[in-house]
Amino acid sequence: MKVLVVGNGGREHAITWKLLQSEKVQQVICIPGTGGTASMPRCRNLAMNVSDFEGIARFALVNGVSLVVVGPEVPLAAGITDFLHAQGLTVFGPTKLGAQIEASKAWAKDLMHEAKIPTAKASVFTAVDPALAYVRTQGLPIVIKADGLAAGKGVTVATTLEQAETAVQAVFSGKFGDAGQRVVVEECLTGQEVSILALTDGITIRPLLPAQDYKRIGEGDTGENTGGMGAYAPASIATPALMERIQQEILEPAIAVLRSRNIDYRGVLYAGLMITPEGNPKVIEFNCRFGDPETQVVLPLLETPLDELLLACVHQRLAEQPAIEWKPGSAACVVMASEGYPDAFQKGKIISGIEQAEVGGAMVFHAGTQSKPQGLITDGGRVLGVTAIGDSLDAALDDAYAAIKQIEFEGAYYRQDIGYPVRRTRSR
Ligand code: ATP
Repeated sequence: MKVLVVGNGGREHAITWKLLQSEKVQQVICIPGTGGTASMPRCRNLAMNVSDFEGIARFALVNGVSLVVVGPEVPLAAGITDFLHAQGLTVFGPTKLGAQIEASKAWAKDLMHEAKIPTAKASVFTAVDPALAYVRTQGLPIVIKADGLAAGKGVTVATTLEQAETAVQAVFSGKFGDAGQRVVVEECLTGQEVSILALTDGITIRPLLPAQDYKRIGEGDTGENTGGMGAYAPASIATPALMERIQQEILEPAIAVLRSRNIDYRGVLYAGLMITPEGNPKVIEFNCRFGDPETQVVLPLLETPLDELLLACVHQRLAEQPAIEWKPGSAACVVMASEGYPDAFQKGKIISGIEQAEVGGAMVFHAGTQSKPQGLITDGGRVLGVTAIGDSLDAALDDAYAAIKQIEFEGAYYRQDIGYPVRRTRSR
């Protein structure tokens, strides 16, 4: 079958790479794809905007595409699934109503309350003054969030009242556009974060391996938030007993309330969790798609063909699907970014060494690259996700870092401490 993958990050490269391992997948077309997907056998990129729903539908219909997999949240929140469904296409990814679970933090909080899902206490405001008045009555630290999609820039964990007030004002300043019509003021949770990517057909929900990602730009989890600087899986903090609680207390109640709201949710439900010092899982956020870079460590460990799982979701037969199978061991991904990211950065730097990096078995997923006649060039803040699998997390990390040493581009930056604090030191 032909599959169309929408998006152009490391996540979409990993999805494409995994799909192409299945003998049932003849071809993957990526819209728009990256320099990485451009060079894969049985794969091609199509230069089309992910918001051009009509163009995507036309292409898929004319070319006999059997399945459309939507990577990013923005087209999902804008209703790509609804549009393509109306044209008779088969789509992995929730409808516009379902995508609200990510596109409105206030909506997600309301769903969590109804489902009695453990989460941080929160209040929602539509104007600056009542929000400020409320913030002044709360303790510190406190978390201020723009309600809508803000590409990771809409959340401030404020440790002073001044920071909290500035963050509230920033939400209503207009800089977040529609995403800043409401502010969510939230209790600050402590503990360890873990990402659970779960597949659902709207009735049954099954988690993939738990992963941990590294959102901050600096080592020791310091500095600004980014799209993600690295990840590993499986995350040992999510023991089988904890995974069972996550299933019972979070994933199943979420799907039950979505159904009760007549939302037919078929795709990934991603739960970003805090595991509190007492060992209780609480939801920080829900996302409506595969996480990035978590996908770059979860899919390399997946043994079951990905197309089989995605089709089970879209055809609502996940309950009949045998247990998901995994490779033993661990996977680690280290993201190489452009100098300056997540602030301003330059593009167009020549990248070398990817083939050498892959000699030892590492996988180099492209997040922001382009194939040009002069070679592969950087084309984004996050440029590459260098992933390795190994018998242990240490082995996977060693291989990922050894591979990264082969790759060069001007201004390349990566965190040296992916795996921390599970693995506190690393030989450099
Ligand atoms: P955006 O909406 O801007 O795209 P996002 O959806 O990634 O951002 P969240 O995942 O809600 O936003 O928050 C980003 C990070 O902020 C979390 O991964 C976590 O580290 C921190 N954070 C968010 N909420 C809380 C909280 N209640 N307590 C402690 N930390 C939090």
